[in-house]
Amino acid sequence: MLNASEADWIHVDVMDGVFVPNISIGFPVIRALAKMAVKPLDAHLMIVNPEKFITQFRDMGVQSLSVHYETCIHLHRTLMQIKEAGMKAGVVLNPHSPVELLTDILVETDIALIMSVNPGFGGQKFIPQSYEKVQRLRKMIDERNLHTLIEVDGGMNIERSKQMMEAGADIIVVGDSIFSAQNPLEMIRMMKKI
Ligand code: ZN
Repeated sequence: MLNASEADWIHVDVMDGVFVPNISIGFPVIRALAKMAVKPLDAHLMIVNPEKFITQFRDMGVQSLSVHYETCIHLHRTLMQIKEAGMKAGVVLNPHSPVELLTDILVETDIALIMSVNPGFGGQKFIPQSYEKVQRLRKMIDERNLHTLIEVDGGMNIERSKQMMEAGADIIVVGDSIFSAQNPLEMIRMMKKI
């Protein structure tokens, strides 16, 4: 269904039961997904020590790899390793982490991913403060003429997606609103029209 859809990327949430209170999918499932997918895989690692697995994700065919700011003590080094492996390098911020934390790493960041819910489960409560965070981040990127893409993940539906795009987001991750829709392909089409 996703291959036939107008979706640009397939976002893959990887959870370890340590950094977040849930376990999602691991290597065998992602490998199987990569074989079937005709769209780029965008992996979001909600795991501790993500730097241990960079080449494995690359070898499975992942094209962009995002790690949480909160899990990386040596974030600059980790982003360099992701880029050297040939992938886009992303940094994810939990709801409590201000966008200003990215000031000195933004120039090396291909994707800045703002969590608009607490990570760990689908269907979490949307945090409205995220709009303002995206606006502030947009300003930081534009003022310095950078090309970092702003991605928003969590609780996104059509109305919120519109507002997020207005706030300056480039990429919207949508789970529930698509997969619980009566016609997921139509829902994706409507979202792409925004
Ligand atoms: Zn995600």
